[in-house]
Amino acid sequence: MTALPARREAAATARAEFDVAAVRAQFPILSTTVHGRPLVYLDSAASAQKPRAVIDALARLYERDYANIHRGVYELSQRASALHDAARRKVQRFLGANDWREIVFVRNATEGVNLVAQSFLAPRLGPGDEILVTEMEHHANIVPWQLVAARTGAKVVAAPIGDTGELDLEALAERIGPRTRMLGVVWVSNVLGTVNPVEEIVALARRRGVPVLIDAAQAVQHQPVDVRALDADFLVFSGHKVYGPSGVGVLWGRLEHLAAMPPWQGGGDMIERVAFEGTSFAEPPFRFEAGTPDIAGIHALGVALDWLEGLGLEAVAAHEAALLAAAEDALARIPGLRVLGAPKRRASLLSFTLDRVHAHDLGTLLDLEGIAVRTGHHCAMPLHARLGVSASARASFAVYTSAEEIDALARALRRIAESWR
Ligand code: PLP
Repeated sequence: MTALPARREAAATARAEFDVAAVRAQFPILSTTVHGRPLVYLDSAASAQKPRAVIDALARLYERDYANIHRGVYELSQRASALHDAARRKVQRFLGANDWREIVFVRNATEGVNLVAQSFLAPRLGPGDEILVTEMEHHANIVPWQLVAARTGAKVVAAPIGDTGELDLEALAERIGPRTRMLGVVWVSNVLGTVNPVEEIVALARRRGVPVLIDAAQAVQHQPVDVRALDADFLVFSGHKVYGPSGVGVLWGRLEHLAAMPPWQGGGDMIERVAFEGTSFAEPPFRFEAGTPDIAGIHALGVALDWLEGLGLEAVAAHEAALLAAAEDALARIPGLRVLGAPKRRASLLSFTLDRVHAHDLGTLLDLEGIAVRTGHHCAMPLHARLGVSASARASFAVYTSAEEIDALARALRRIAESWR
């Protein structure tokens, strides 16, 4: 998540310090084959693969410590509850949050945004109000706001990006008006890799009294996070992109907001007292966690965060910066290949088009060589429309990506470019 010259400099150091072979050995799926070729997995931005520690944590919980949580007086339920509570504290530590009650477990980043839209924002919206997002948002940070806007007569407006794929901060500031009730902004674009200056953006919105939600789905796996320093109102991320299981995600919210927000789903575990005459609700975070949660998934998410922190997020960032620099160099030499955007700060992913080859065909041709990349609109149709392309291919890099895999991608792309000329 660094600027280009720094990325190149980081490359040499990272190669020396980061033992990618030792990391790869912890991911069983990386030694499998696809179409008889060793798997080259370059779709971690869609979902990361899981290390042995996470796979084992899931199995161990079911084998030894599994029961429903916060319900039983018996030993096993107490043990499962303690693991669950510990996972929440791990997320608190990972995000640098002030209080464990600020951590709400949801299914994924998408559900976190929906929760904020429906519980926090909808009661504050009226006809003519505006929800500001940006042109580079994932659908998860557009559609939940559109749903509440449609119910309330509000509208969703988008701040523009420039041709390099960076936000135009002046234009964004101008779009914040007296009717702006919320700003939703992605930290790292899942298409361009652009790293937005979220601290600056939050400060801008805060001066105008506008609450901010940060979509950190592509950010927290690449660099250290500190929600206290960010000073936003809400932040969401998904467990499956940060080496944890799918089915679990996190909403972080300022405690004063969460304490004032009504529940958005009703059921067991989110109440204080239930009677047919009326029901009172539990304090946050439980008020927002109706029903039995993903007990094993939440535990394994805590293990994934421990595991990632064990590698050191600074070391991870340097390793990925090196991969990105290598990929940028290699792809720039492929005839007819166009990388989308050229932001000064980019996380470890690149989206591109290749002349005369549709993105889906490109994905299929790469797959035949064992190389998995994402193709299509990457759940960012408005951004693709803004860039004037209907689809692109995306290669994304993670802790286990090796320099050899970048070479394999570049070789395959060159072959395809030459044979389709
Ligand atoms: N935001 C961004 C930037 C993403 O890349 C994604 C997923 O790709 C999401 C939100 C939604 O994540 P999930 O599908 O896990 O809710």
